[in-house]
Amino acid sequence: MVPTHLFLLTLLLLLPPCSPLAPPLDVAIIGGGPCGLATAIALHKASPSTSVRIYERDPYPFAPKGATVAISRAGWRALRCIDRPVHDELRAACAAVESLRILPIRAGSPATAAPGFARRALFLAGLLNKLLRRLRLRPLPIIKVNLWHSVRCTLAARAVALLGPAALQAGALASVSPSPAGGFSLTFSGAPPVSARVVLACDGASSATRLLCPLEPQAGELLADEGKSVWRGLAPGVAAGGAAFFLRDAEEELLAVTFPAGDGGSSWTVAAKALEGKSKGPADALERLLGVLPPRDPSYEPLERLYRCVEATPAGAIENRLKIRRFGEGAPPFGAATSGLAFLGDAAHPVRPTGEGIALALEDAWALGDVVKRAGGVGPDQLRAYEVGRLPRVRQVSGRVKKVADAYYKGGGGGDEPVEKVERMRMKPL
Ligand SMILES: Cc1cc2nc3c(=O)[nH]c(=O)nc-3n(C[C@H](O)[C@H](O)[C@H](O)COP(=O)(O)OP(=O)(O)OC[C@H]3O[C@@H](n4cnc5c(N)ncnc54)[C@H](O)[C@@H]3O)c2cc1C
Repeated sequence: MVPTHLFLLTLLLLLPPCSPLAPPLDVAIIGGGPCGLATAIALHKASPSTSVRIYERDPYPFAPKGATVAISRAGWRALRCIDRPVHDELRAACAAVESLRILPIRAGSPATAAPGFARRALFLAGLLNKLLRRLRLRPLPIIKVNLWHSVRCTLAARAVALLGPAALQAGALASVSPSPAGGFSLTFSGAPPVSARVVLACDGASSATRLLCPLEPQAGELLADEGKSVWRGLAPGVAAGGAAFFLRDAEEELLAVTFPAGDGGSSWTVAAKALEGKSKGPADALERLLGVLPPRDPSYEPLERLYRCVEATPAGAIENRLKIRRFGEGAPPFGAATSGLAFLGDAAHPVRPTGEGIALALEDAWALGDVVKRAGGVGPDQLRAYEVGRLPRVRQVSGRVKKVADAYYKGGGGGDEPVEKVERMRMKPL
């Protein structure tokens, strides 16, 4: 008879060696949009020994989608302070808008409600640029724009170069469970499970992380529905020649915008009164969009141009319901309720689409990087410090964006938020 302890010892020796458990990550970032990718770069710059991994539901390299983003000055400054090379690359990829016209969406409609001075200033700028082109001089850009897709690709390539290829994983978050000892266990569809000390939700306005964390306020409490559907797409085959068009119908609150895209083609965005239900995919989104546009009119070139763009969108359109973060009375607190978790970018504070959404997301990335750099690492305390420091500016910028967007949609007026002066944010390189 073999004694039990000898039997167990023999068994242990015969067993193959166990593979060591993967060490927990310091930071798991959910969402590889502009915010998640910029945050990964910022954290790496702030604390190179911190292990960071981004989980993005779209496989990398990314397929083109989205439309144009006009990154505001504050966004560019944040990007430059996060990482100069990525800033310079994106700056060089900008498409210049040389003329911008605000027109009615239907031929013969009365003049749009856009402020007269703005229309006149834009008309003169367009005229000046026409003259400069005739004189073979370089036109002056009215604004410079990037594609959402190229922002995401450039940031992704830089994140992979700095953090290594394993830092960007294709995987959609499926579950997130805080563990009693601190930290989180996360599962994904498309990627192995992982544990992480800190989770940063950068997964956009319909944040899956928020949905999966029962302690967190959900979309119904946090977001105000703007009653609008927004469609976006890229039309690589439709040349824009530096011209942007805003086609509006103030009464129906319909706004269609076409912009030059960096590749010589066009990008387009349409905002209209919200449609019932959700689109089933890009082709269905396009069908739904055609239902809200005025019928084709071959005699009215601006609308024909929009139709050419929409029909030349190879991957179909993306459709979203416009929702913005509520602030003030009755709104849930800005900070996350779960220790070790923070929301950044559109997952924390979606705004109306005037270009400030992406700038706020880049500022968030820098601001968290700055807190982490000063603390020498990242943990729940740094996340809370970030949220406290960030709230006043996010609130101010959100209020201003609402006001600006009301002027677009309604031809004047403003939001109900008091608009304070938005101070320039002081930033230095990470
Ligand atoms: C496809 C798309 C196109 C856009 N195009 C424009 C545009 O043309 N013009 C404009 O002004 N604004 C656009 N926006 C919105 C704008 O980009 C945001 O205001 C701004 O970029 C904030 O960035 P963000 O990274 O916080 O959020 P987002 O840009 O929304 O990025 C969120 C990221 O999270 C990923 N994600 C979502 N759920 C999961 C999950 N469960 N697991 C893993 N990953 C997940 C998404 O795929 C996405 O990459 C677009 C947003 C999206 C998602």
